[in-house]
Amino acid sequence: MAARAEVGAVSPWGLYVHIPFCPYRCDYCDFVALPAGPLTRRWIPRYLAALVREAEQARWQGLAATAFYGGGTPTLVPLAELHGQLARFVAPDAEVTAEANPGTVTAESLRDMRRAGINRLSLGLQAAQDHLLQAVHRLHTWDDFLAAYRVAREAGFDRVNVDLMYGLPGQTLHDWRESLDRVCELAPEHISAYGLQVEPGTVLYSRRPPLPDDDAQAEMYDVARERLAGAGYEHYEISNWCRPGMASRHNLLYWRNRQWLGLGVGAASQDARRRWTNAAPLAAYCEALEAGRPAPIRDEEQRDRASDVLVLGLRLSEGVAEADVDLSRFGHAIDVHIERGWLQWGGGRLRLTAAGVPVANRVWADLL
Ligand code: SF4
Repeated sequence: MAARAEVGAVSPWGLYVHIPFCPYRCDYCDFVALPAGPLTRRWIPRYLAALVREAEQARWQGLAATAFYGGGTPTLVPLAELHGQLARFVAPDAEVTAEANPGTVTAESLRDMRRAGINRLSLGLQAAQDHLLQAVHRLHTWDDFLAAYRVAREAGFDRVNVDLMYGLPGQTLHDWRESLDRVCELAPEHISAYGLQVEPGTVLYSRRPPLPDDDAQAEMYDVARERLAGAGYEHYEISNWCRPGMASRHNLLYWRNRQWLGLGVGAASQDARRRWTNAAPLAAYCEALEAGRPAPIRDEEQRDRASDVLVLGLRLSEGVAEADVDLSRFGHAIDVHIERGWLQWGGGRLRLTAAGVPVANRVWADLL
């Protein structure tokens, strides 16, 4: 199954570019990511050319308001060159983010990225303790992260996100506080903090090391909320905090249920009517694009806009506007959760309450 992408009937829309190469495989990873050994490295030039072809094939309306190079580890490929070729599809004032892992960037590569128009960097730290990083097979250290953070600032990145993770094997509440404290001292513009999920098919799933239990994870989340609020960060999405005005514009497009086009293997896209995901095999993707065919698609579905708006919008502190979508079919379930104190209406918007945020998964499951 394959189709040409048509995105942009309702602006703004975002461009996502998936770079599926990684220097190593983290034990919890279930993303489309290939260890970049000599064999996979040979694919990089072919893959980058195929990404540009996929962009050229898509039917665009206007320019992307945001672009996001995610992975994988985008900084394993010549990203400045790639963005140089894709920038014609992106608005001049767009937010352009690249994910990076410590140890894969240099002062020179970051300067080149900045010059090419990439203006936001998302650094994957996860934890400030080297033994915790090793416990999930992340090969960088706290010092590697610090070096990457400093060269990013020197290269002119004034919008930096730091990714953190709680619930890691062997992680204590003290470790988690220390990670938050050390990152807050650096004062990045944005911090993401996700709880570890053990997904089937990952190394962690088969190894099953002892992990902090649900209560300990909930306590870590509460500590993050408290510590980051104390440091002046706005908690604008369940797992994301920012300095005022520094929210991720690209991720807001997802949570506000707008349109985006995903390029590359395993990349998801969404237009006004449907959502689809490219197939993952690298060879099939490159061969299709080289032959002038659309990227092979793995699955495609019609959108249920009301469910999407409800579930994604409730992730945001701004909530869901009553005027945006007809929520009448969820009326009973919404009322039940309002009685429990997990949802509330205010100013024409439905939101999770402070008590509802930690049980958001339960709320969504019940609503749908
Ligand atoms: S760096 Fe990210 S994408 Fe790569 S293996 Fe680790 S979790 Fe997966």
